[in-house]
Amino acid sequence: METSANSLNRRALLRQTARWGCAACAAGVGHGFALAREGVEVGKNSKFAKLVPADQVEQAAAQQYQKMMQDAAAQNALLPADHPQTKRLRAIAQKIIPFSYEWNPRAKNWQWAVNILNSNQINAFCMPGGKIAFYTGILEQLKLTDDEVAMIMGHEVAHALREHARERMGKSAATNIGLNLGAQLLGLGNTGAQIANMGGQLLSLKFGREDESEADLVGMELAARAGYNPRAGVTLWQKMGAASKGAPPQFLSTHPSGPTRIKDIEANLPKVDPLFRRATAQK
Ligand SMILES: [Zn+2]
Repeated sequence: METSANSLNRRALLRQTARWGCAACAAGVGHGFALAREGVEVGKNSKFAKLVPADQVEQAAAQQYQKMMQDAAAQNALLPADHPQTKRLRAIAQKIIPFSYEWNPRAKNWQWAVNILNSNQINAFCMPGGKIAFYTGILEQLKLTDDEVAMIMGHEVAHALREHARERMGKSAATNIGLNLGAQLLGLGNTGAQIANMGGQLLSLKFGREDESEADLVGMELAARAGYNPRAGVTLWQKMGAASKGAPPQFLSTHPSGPTRIKDIEANLPKVDPLFRRATAQK
């Protein structure tokens, strides 16, 4: 039997998430509202993303990811499932993933994957559809704590949830075909071929600074809800900054950072700190 406290909580939750319940939002149609969850707000979804179907982007990513992991395994460069670092990262992902669904309802049906590639690169990614990889270089050279891993993972997952790669592909498709023709003239066959071509480029897709700021904020929100200290966002980027004094980390070539990144993260802390406190108080 439901207690009245529970039903009160549920009502409060419904109020908090009321803006998420909209079918148009869930379908990604959008109608001018920015997305928000408990004070963490991002802009509306880009109209460019709609130029390419989400399932095709996710399919291209899945193929690319699978090939990459197979190639790595063939070269003995894929850490096994029972490796302590693989277990550690998968445990962190398990905590973060349940909080991702409200940012993108598709995420519930994604075949999430987390793997570690044995490579000195300071790099990590989450492809469309929840395909996550970390390089040993980023874990070892930056000596990442669990909180810092969660910040990177949250950031990468946020790119996937907010469909930034799909948006880049849509922009590219629009540029190639001529914006004035409009989306209705994008033949599905054409788009399919284009996406297949771009699947191979997913890893080198460079995000814009706006996408970076959004991924920083949404990533911190996800990690904080999962019980990871969002202040690790500051130490993480300090470490990244120190590492970039040598050869610039691969990560920074696809994730261009503005000069105020750490300040922006600090400014966002009051929005996500209460979520972290609530998550840890419940433990
Ligand atoms: Zn990024």
